[in-house]
Amino acid sequence: MRQVCPWCDTEIVWDEETGAEDLCPHCFNMINEYRTLGVTLEESGEAEEKSDQPLASEGGGVLPRNWDQFDKQVQHYMEGQQDEAECEHCQEPMIAAGEMEVDRSRFLPRIPELGGPPLLQPPFALTLFVCPYCFVTKNKLSPGDQTRITAILENKKFR
Ligand SMILES: [Zn+2]
Ligand SMILES: [Zn+2]
Repeated sequence: MRQVCPWCDTEIVWDEETGAEDLCPHCFNMINEYRTLGVTLEESGEAEEKSDQPLASEGGGVLPRNWDQFDKQVQHYMEGQQDEAECEHCQEPMIAAGEMEVDRSRFLPRIPELGGPPLLQPPFALTLFVCPYCFVTKNKLSPGDQTRITAILENKKFR
């Protein structure tokens, strides 16, 4: 389900399950009452194929002025983060908000049937990424633990 925000002209792809919302996730203006003006693009399966491609107008300078500050702050919060992630919903970079420790009480590693160490052993950490536009969150293995997994998978002994 797609709609074009009348305020910032951004094409919004709404979640199929929750449907359209009142606020534009890009400029946070009310768009509910303008729903009749919303351009609903093709409802067919064709629309779904396109939905995982980046929006064409991204970064095209269509954002209103109050977005300069917002974007600066987003950059400020992303500065120095060790890993990156992209929001699957908005195709925008996500902010690494922190790390979640996973310990033995919450994770039981699976022992590989053909031998070798488990791929992942507690404690390890997950980086929690937050999309500054739609607030979707995403977990990714912390950079340090990524290195540990790569080392295990590169070990020729277990091939
Ligand atoms: Zn908007
Ligand atoms: Zn998003």
